[in-house]
Amino acid sequence: MNTLDSDISYLKGVGPKRAELLNKELGIFTCGDLLQQYPHRYIDKTQFHKINTLHQESGEVQLRGVLRRLVPVGEGRKKRLTGRFRDETGAIDLVWFSGVSYLEKQLEVGKEYVIYGRVNAFRDQLSIPHPEMEIANPEKIKKAASFAPVYPSTEKLNTKGVDARNRRRMMAALLDKLQPEDLPENLPPYIVKKFRFPSRYDTMRTIHFPKSEEQLQQARNRLKFEELFFLQLRLLQIRRRRDAIRGFNFEQVGEHFMHFFNHKLPFELTGAQKRVLKEIRRDLGKGIQMNRLLQGDVGSGKTIVGLMTMLLAIDNGFQACLMAPTEILAQQHYNSISEYLEGMDLQVGFLSGSVKGKKRKVLLEALKNGEIHILIGTHALLEPPVVFQNLGLAITDEQHRFGVAQRAKLWKKSSPYPPHVLVMTATPIPRTLAMTLYGDLNVSVIDELPPGRKAIQTLHKTENNRLRVLGFMKEEIAKGRQVYVVYPLIEESETLDLQNLQDGYEALRREFPPPNYQISVVHGRMKPADKDFEMQRFVEGKTQIMVATTVIEVGVNVPNASVMVIENTERFGLSQLHQLRGRVGRGAEQSFCILMSSFKLSKESKERIQTMVRTNNGFDIAEADLRLRGPGNIEGTQQSGILNFRIADLAKDGRILQTAREVAARILDDDPKFERPEHHPIVWYLDKHGKKLRGWSRIS
Ligand code: ADP
Ligand code: MG
Repeated sequence: MNTLDSDISYLKGVGPKRAELLNKELGIFTCGDLLQQYPHRYIDKTQFHKINTLHQESGEVQLRGVLRRLVPVGEGRKKRLTGRFRDETGAIDLVWFSGVSYLEKQLEVGKEYVIYGRVNAFRDQLSIPHPEMEIANPEKIKKAASFAPVYPSTEKLNTKGVDARNRRRMMAALLDKLQPEDLPENLPPYIVKKFRFPSRYDTMRTIHFPKSEEQLQQARNRLKFEELFFLQLRLLQIRRRRDAIRGFNFEQVGEHFMHFFNHKLPFELTGAQKRVLKEIRRDLGKGIQMNRLLQGDVGSGKTIVGLMTMLLAIDNGFQACLMAPTEILAQQHYNSISEYLEGMDLQVGFLSGSVKGKKRKVLLEALKNGEIHILIGTHALLEPPVVFQNLGLAITDEQHRFGVAQRAKLWKKSSPYPPHVLVMTATPIPRTLAMTLYGDLNVSVIDELPPGRKAIQTLHKTENNRLRVLGFMKEEIAKGRQVYVVYPLIEESETLDLQNLQDGYEALRREFPPPNYQISVVHGRMKPADKDFEMQRFVEGKTQIMVATTVIEVGVNVPNASVMVIENTERFGLSQLHQLRGRVGRGAEQSFCILMSSFKLSKESKERIQTMVRTNNGFDIAEADLRLRGPGNIEGTQQSGILNFRIADLAKDGRILQTAREVAARILDDDPKFERPEHHPIVWYLDKHGKKLRGWSRIS
């Protein structure tokens, strides 16, 4: 048996107890699992700090000295252990909050230790919480590594005797046992040669116990490449398979499309819109089901592209539907699409939870017998009683708001083939993420705004500018414009937030009193009908100010609203801020976005606000968001689980990803079944490890 498949408990220095901890805490069951938990950093064990040089910002330090005192303090759950540690230059306090009894037994006062930990400062008093403690051994110190690995761990592991030192020992024991045969090559030899990768065996030794920075870099590169390469290979395989799913063939561009294009289209399409329409038309005429993601910043004009795609469906004898995540948004689509199509002999239907009784019955009947050409609505579209005569195209707007399962239901609403699917999103995602999350989809991007738009001016203001901001709002309202004032709403503190909004509203009422001014309020606690009523008043211009929580984030279109004031900006994420800002700048007027925040800001909040002030480009913002928060937190990716990489980092490894994808695509072009001998390593590896890559979320 391959050492890597053997149970971790049989590894020297592990045993059943520690094995159980490793199972539970880190999901490590086999030696292979252990091997694949790479260090997240390395520390230089050859360097010692002197205690009298330590300060608040020293960070992690290694010290050599004598444990002078060890005293348990407090009782029960509050019990902690304090120690005093001294070298020839001074002394520092050590403190442990957990594992107290274990440590009390383990540690010996009067002995010389090598300790490692992070310096903490409390009221100018320095201490080291939870240091790693090891009896000083001159032999060992002489042999110490400049790159001692540190592994991701948990508090439980650390306090139950599987600390960093232990992990290093386990790794050393495993590497001792490992033979090159245990780690056969998984990449074609010509790839290994081309990129000058070290062998897999050497790579694993190096990643755990590097000898030099250069060596470490090479090992890292190889592992990152491997991880991204196999992922891309898998995604591209799925995509190729999907590209083979038969679909309706929309052969012709017919009279509705042409009539709309020649007589109804109220503006010239942008170059980007034309390009995307061409991409879509090409998809639709292949007899293969389309699965296309359409990304475009807020206001880039996705709706018209969606509408014209629906006309293509109709011209080929099919029905089309458009699904939006909220009632308001669906209603807006319904209104604008009905307006675009006015005078054309086409029936547009609207369906949501609020369409009930006879009205619903009539609608469903008309849908079933094909009288309705386009159905627009909410999730209600997915329900079983909604039966189309012949659905050929399903469009979803703001896809990240829909669950995967919900979207899959649309597939079942047509036969013999699934409908063509177009997914529109205004949440631009960075290229590296798109290649990974949507690597199995075709992606179109509208990267150009319609002409004549004035870039939104974004300003950052703090509380002491409040009066000026109010004055500015008055000026804009006097010019006939409308203003949004947005408050954050975070579920944990919903009541508090609501209070915040309420207070803000009261203050605005004093500043903007009736009858000259009217204010709308919309928040998540309101009944949908009340919400819609308030919203409608604003849309119709009956109110000048809309005070709201983020419910207005998605899709609302009031071109006359030219000012957006965002309160407590520091509490919003970047992509959310960008979405919110997209509510203004929809008309011909110069629009403004005013970001209110407290004066004192964390570094990250400051960067977020600066990014907003600096750029209006959604893709730039998405890149910044990725950098600031890491890929796991980007909107729309949270539940996907796809982004749990062992070593690759999408914020940093864009180049490696690009290369890995190109290599994977070339191999699939040249030898799709991996029949050539040089590709056999891939087959072997996919067989062994491919499972993890299966069952990936699909977008539609
Ligand atoms: P989004 O991509 O955010 O869904 P919309 O489709 O709502 O954007 O379009 C935003 C606004 O831009 C709409 O009022 C629409 O009529 C207008 N628009 C779209 N395309 C063009 C164009 N090519 N030229 C001028 N205006 C356009
Ligand atoms: Mg839209």
